[in-house]
Amino acid sequence: MKKQFPQALTIAGSDSGGGAGMQADLKTMQMRHVFGASVVVAVTAQNTRGVNDAFTLPKTIIDEQFEAIADDLAIKAVKSGMLANSDTVRTVAKNLRKFNFGPYILDPVMVAKGGAHLLTDDAVATVKQELLPLASLVTPNLPEAEVLTGITIKDQGAMRVAAEKLQTLGAKNVLVKGGHLDTETAASDYVLLADGTDFWLSGPRFETINTHGTGDTISACIAAEIAKGTDLKSAIQIGKAYVTATIRDGILVGHGHGPLNHWA
Ligand code: PLP
Repeated sequence: MKKQFPQALTIAGSDSGGGAGMQADLKTMQMRHVFGASVVVAVTAQNTRGVNDAFTLPKTIIDEQFEAIADDLAIKAVKSGMLANSDTVRTVAKNLRKFNFGPYILDPVMVAKGGAHLLTDDAVATVKQELLPLASLVTPNLPEAEVLTGITIKDQGAMRVAAEKLQTLGAKNVLVKGGHLDTETAASDYVLLADGTDFWLSGPRFETINTHGTGDTISACIAAEIAKGTDLKSAIQIGKAYVTATIRDGILVGHGHGPLNHWA
């Protein structure tokens, strides 16, 4: 008998190396028993050592991917990752307003760990204007939270202030990922929910270079859980546990910042 699976959508860039971007999203959704569909907005020539080149797809084919998915699938949650530039951000926002894909998780991807820019500087204003108000949840790391809010984040107090600012900018719920706070022995993330309640998520910090695609993975896991009907708070907790396990166990692929272990 045919089995039904919840369906989720990732709007992202392709990582040819398979560790981050759309590939990490789809692998995560698959592991969470959710059927993943994808709108590719950019293609990167990339491996675990870095990003060699990137190409952004024309607007028409991005629009057509949205149309094709909306025409046939029953998407229950959506996330976005690498969006490349201002035009793409506008195209994505237009399509998110046009179609109902359920709760939208915005991972405001800006710079890859190797230093490659995955979003142009001028597109940050477009993300704030067009995407933050659509987001059920925004999931910045500390550098991204700093760029979006203009707040310098050196401690957990500043993480809270930045999360509040992101809510005033339009995001309903906020997850500020604290992995870049190197004064901490744990990796503590701060969550501020739409009803004003908040909590910290703490996980162990591992000495590893297998961290390629961590941001993509946690936001894809949260989207997958939401597609299943999991409540947001539990979905965020599951996302944190999932990414912690995938970092802890690593896998031997490539020679640089290795990918995560989705079988962990
Ligand atoms: N490449 C693509 C296409 C991505 O979407 C992302 C996501 O953040 C990255 C690379 C970043 O990878 P890393 O975790 O190494 O910063």
